[in-house]
Amino acid sequence: MQPDEVKRCPGCGPEGGETQQETLRVMLDGVEYAVAQAVTACASCGESFVAGEEVERTERALVQAVAEGTSGPQALRHLRRWLGWSGVRLGELLGVTEVTVSRWENGHREVDGNAFALVARVALEALEGGEGTRRWLERRAERARGERDTQRREALEEIAALGQTMEQDDDFFR
Ligand SMILES: [Zn+2]
Repeated sequence: MQPDEVKRCPGCGPEGGETQQETLRVMLDGVEYAVAQAVTACASCGESFVAGEEVERTERALVQAVAEGTSGPQALRHLRRWLGWSGVRLGELLGVTEVTVSRWENGHREVDGNAFALVARVALEALEGGEGTRRWLERRAERARGERDTQRREALEEIAALGQTMEQDDDFFR
């Protein structure tokens, strides 16, 4: 990527300009996360903007700070969304219901420390291009789903077998 493309003023195009380090402050669960961010002033129009690449870099720095920080409803939601998981999906991966995830995130129930640690670990790995823990969670969820399907099928077969028994038993309904 050319430097021009990195510093593109939304209004003027590839003008570039002076870059200044500022601090982006984000509050989650009453905790302030401060992340350095390069803000560029357009040489042509003077408008301040954050270049696309810098937006992503800042996002990643914030995710790292949150993942290494304190467990809490907003911190959990922040990581989950960055990982691209719905509440339903996170529930599947952790073996809890979506209602539980929702309660964690809206503060109606204290966020499970182990659950947060797992999500934080997946996020930290993803920042480094790894996905070992994510894959492991996916395999576990897949296996749990398979076991549930088997149990359901066996239950249906039992009911069907019971139905046949009842039909064969002339006295059953009398
Ligand atoms: Zn401009």
